[in-house]
Amino acid sequence: MLKIGVLSLQGGVEEHLKLLTKIKNVSPCSVKKKKDFIDLDGLILPGGESTTLGKLLDIFDLKDSIIDLAYKGVPIWGTCAGMILLAKKIDGEKSHLNLMDINIKRNGYGNQLDSFKTTAIIPKISKFEVPLTFIRAPYATKVTSNAEVLLELDNKIVAIEQDNLLATSFHPELDEDLKTHEYFVKKVKAFKSSKLKAAK
Ligand code: GLN
Repeated sequence: MLKIGVLSLQGGVEEHLKLLTKIKNVSPCSVKKKKDFIDLDGLILPGGESTTLGKLLDIFDLKDSIIDLAYKGVPIWGTCAGMILLAKKIDGEKSHLNLMDINIKRNGYGNQLDSFKTTAIIPKISKFEVPLTFIRAPYATKVTSNAEVLLELDNKIVAIEQDNLLATSFHPELDEDLKTHEYFVKKVKAFKSSKLKAAK
């Protein structure tokens, strides 16, 4: 079984847990204390409010636990506010976990257009269109180093992968489509198999 944690401090936790239960060989769990992070095979940082999430990570002293996982190669996926937490640069603000080589514009779609739905093909994730739900979403203005753009919509970068890290501006947990979760689970599975092989 693949043990995948969802950071459970604030935001869209239940929706991710619910979708993960639909995928074979995945045991989803909520994580909120230091000890919960120790034996995870994968971690999701959900959407919510990144300033609040950043403060809660400091209050509960959890930043190092997440950074340690990232350095060990454990797959981590940030959706929306989670993507903001992963970034090394946020326009006009201090960054949080400093893990991904991306520059973020928070609430990048402005006020009128702050929530919308669309669809797109994300070639690495699926050859069919996947639904994309944006809610007061950020986007990346720039990726550097070996961060790879998985999807750009109207000159806004909305899905990025950098080694074990994945970030999406949109919320796949709010749609019925499992493709993005399945893609993340594939990364988790590959990480766990390589870890088991190395231990032999
Ligand atoms: N706008 C939020 C922020 O800046 C993110 C919104 C979301 O996660 N749905 O934190």
